Amino acid sequence: MASTGAGEGNKTAAGSSLHSKTLLKSQSLYQYILESTVFPREPDCLRELRVATATHPMAGMAASPDEVQLLGLLIEMLGAKNAVEVGVFTGYSLLATALALPDDGKIVAIDVTRESYDQIGLPVIQKAGVAHKIDFHVGLALPVLDQMVAEEVNKGWFDFAFVDADKVNFLNYHERLLQLVRVGGLIAYDNTLWSGSVVASPDEPLAAATREFNVAIAADPRVHVCQIAIADGLTLCRRVA
Ligand code: CA
Repeated sequence: MASTGAGEGNKTAAGSSLHSKTLLKSQSLYQYILESTVFPREPDCLRELRVATATHPMAGMAASPDEVQLLGLLIEMLGAKNAVEVGVFTGYSLLATALALPDDGKIVAIDVTRESYDQIGLPVIQKAGVAHKIDFHVGLALPVLDQMVAEEVNKGWFDFAFVDADKVNFLNYHERLLQLVRVGGLIAYDNTLWSGSVVASPDEPLAAATREFNVAIAADPRVHVCQIAIADGLTLCRRVA
């Protein structure tokens, strides 16, 4: 390489060609994915809860239907039986997880409130016949997770975890979940691109926290990682140590 300048040029060129590999550039293409592949395979109960959740003033907090389809597929591939969900809201992704687990599967669900869950999600989840899989803990996630870690029986007991809660605590959740999820198990973190703010406004506090999380996860030898540009960014971590 002749100079630093040329090196920078090459880097930019590589970035441009990689960008052309990104398929999802339009709303109509996303609509196509939903209509061609997601909605035709969406269980009725999940559709009912998705539609009911959309009426909530904070509906934006819910996971997207293509995302929960992916999570359901991964849970099935893992042969998962025990799961943890940090952040529940109405229980939309919780229902998707419950549907993907076997009948004797269990999910520890944690949220600071169960108001939206009780009002919107629980009736649908009960009707779907999967409420018996869910063990709901109301409270801040860190003390609940610490309590779980303190019980030896929980260590490595879980196959899958989905984290969709306060972003500033993601790294704290990660340390606890690495003790609770078995080697070979999967931890999925939601909103890890934070509406693109990780590059658009990197100094904004939640963008900065998300960037810090992404750097730490990419450097963490205890997991294999993949950042997926689905929904608002989904980071998959497979525990390897
Ligand atoms: Ca989310």
